Amino acid sequence: MTIAFNKLEVRIRLTAIRANYRLLCGRGSRIIGVIKADAYGHGLTEVASALAKEGCDTFAVGTVAEGAALRQHLTAKGLNSRIIVLLGPIDPDDYPPLWEYSLIPFIGSFRQLEALARQAARVGKGLEMSLKFDTGMARLGFCMEDLPRLLDRLREAPLVRPVMASSHLATADQPESVDYLMGQAECFTSILSALTEAGYAVEANLANSAGILGHPSVHHQSQRAGIALYGANPFAGTAWDHLGRGLAPAMTVRTRIVSVHSLPKGGCISYGCTFTADRDMRVAIVAVGYADAYSRCLTGKSAQMLIAGRRAPVVGRVCMQLTACDVTDIPDARPGEWATLLGGDGPLAISPEELASWWDTISYEVFCLLGMNRRVYI
Ligand SMILES: *Cc1c(COP(=O)(O)O)cnc(C)c1O
Repeated sequence: MTIAFNKLEVRIRLTAIRANYRLLCGRGSRIIGVIKADAYGHGLTEVASALAKEGCDTFAVGTVAEGAALRQHLTAKGLNSRIIVLLGPIDPDDYPPLWEYSLIPFIGSFRQLEALARQAARVGKGLEMSLKFDTGMARLGFCMEDLPRLLDRLREAPLVRPVMASSHLATADQPESVDYLMGQAECFTSILSALTEAGYAVEANLANSAGILGHPSVHHQSQRAGIALYGANPFAGTAWDHLGRGLAPAMTVRTRIVSVHSLPKGGCISYGCTFTADRDMRVAIVAVGYADAYSRCLTGKSAQMLIAGRRAPVVGRVCMQLTACDVTDIPDARPGEWATLLGGDGPLAISPEELASWWDTISYEVFCLLGMNRRVYI
């Protein structure tokens, strides 16, 4: 997973993730730690261990293989936490490990359900699963109309046991889309009633981070928290910004300044000469580029780095392993010193949302991509 040869240092503060988890526990009732995609770039096993110390006993990963890796880690630590596999089994090889590693898959199609039932018969052993419903995301899951057939199939395959029912919200982080969320919530409630009536006592979960912070009415028995654990505010920049106050970003990314030189007025810099100095300038050449997941799309977008405690604008095109910054007003910028791309100390720290806005993306993608660099835990 790690991009091996560069000078980047991704610093992860596990104490921040633990504090964010505690904050979320104060808002929800039972928080499932969503640690898919290498814990959004923060490290699968490291984050799981940190959350377990706070009492988190259920984790959600993406793929079956990720779940197997997590199970091995947890078992070695003497923990038998529940592991939910959000993507469910995708190919035939994904079925046997569900039993071997005691994973609870999301099952959202008859194809998956039949394959699971066949495997259960083969193994002669039951398996717990979470029934995944599509209530408006239109991505994965059984629909309301599938319920009669689903209940029939469940009765015929008693070895596969639904212990959980889940659905995912499409607009929880958009205060202006509450109506859509309420539609999803109503649909989910009807599905749960049908399951209860049919005798299935399931643990229901619908809320993601934004649902936990902004919509107590959709909390049900448990809640799946991702982005807020890592300290990004799902409501950043919206009218509900205050609901994410107190979350602390856990990731800081920094690298070294390679050289500092002057650029006379009228001089241009980097590929394509897209930036021309409008005054005599000093520029720092920083050891990061798009090969390190610092996107070339950050070119020309008023992106900044934090150098010697000051903001330094990115100038010219972001290259493969180098990026130039304007340090005319930062006399302390010197070769060998740090340049911070994300996070940092004090009020000038670069927030995940700020970097994401320069990048034309969201904090989720910033974490997942930059987190592929070498991490250190502080
Ligand atoms: C990723 C994911 C989550 C977590 O969402 P956040 O917005 O990061 O809190 C919850 N549920 C499912 C199904 C997911 O895929």
